[in-house]
Amino acid sequence: MDPVAGTTPKITKSEQEWREQLSPAEYAVLRQAATEPPWSGEYVDTKKVGVYECRACGAELFRSETKFESHCGWPSFYDPACSDAVILREDRSHGMVRTEVLCASCHSHLGHVFEGEGFPTPTDQRYCINSIALRLVPTE
Ligand SMILES: [Zn+2]
Repeated sequence: MDPVAGTTPKITKSEQEWREQLSPAEYAVLRQAATEPPWSGEYVDTKKVGVYECRACGAELFRSETKFESHCGWPSFYDPACSDAVILREDRSHGMVRTEVLCASCHSHLGHVFEGEGFPTPTDQRYCINSIALRLVPTE
């Protein structure tokens, strides 16, 4: 994974350590920026109340209150739990210009953010996040 300009992750592990900690599917998404197939993830339709943590490092990333139904096949949030929970960077892979979303604590890949799509949310942003990059910790 490319270093993120100007920032140092709080949690640094070698790729070998990440491979040992994560399952192959988790590693492919979190450390190699793969995308899980739409509708395949365990949190696509989840409405449980709780906190979504980074599956790699456990940092709090999103809260269930900002999860909304985008019908895109991936869990969608309109805002991160706090503004420095995630890092955004331009992603020009696959012939598209997108904005990649990374965990600010460990720089693992989470998904992409899109905006201006007209969803009736406070931010008009859609953080389109791979389920496998998250772990829901229910609070009720
Ligand atoms: Zn992380």
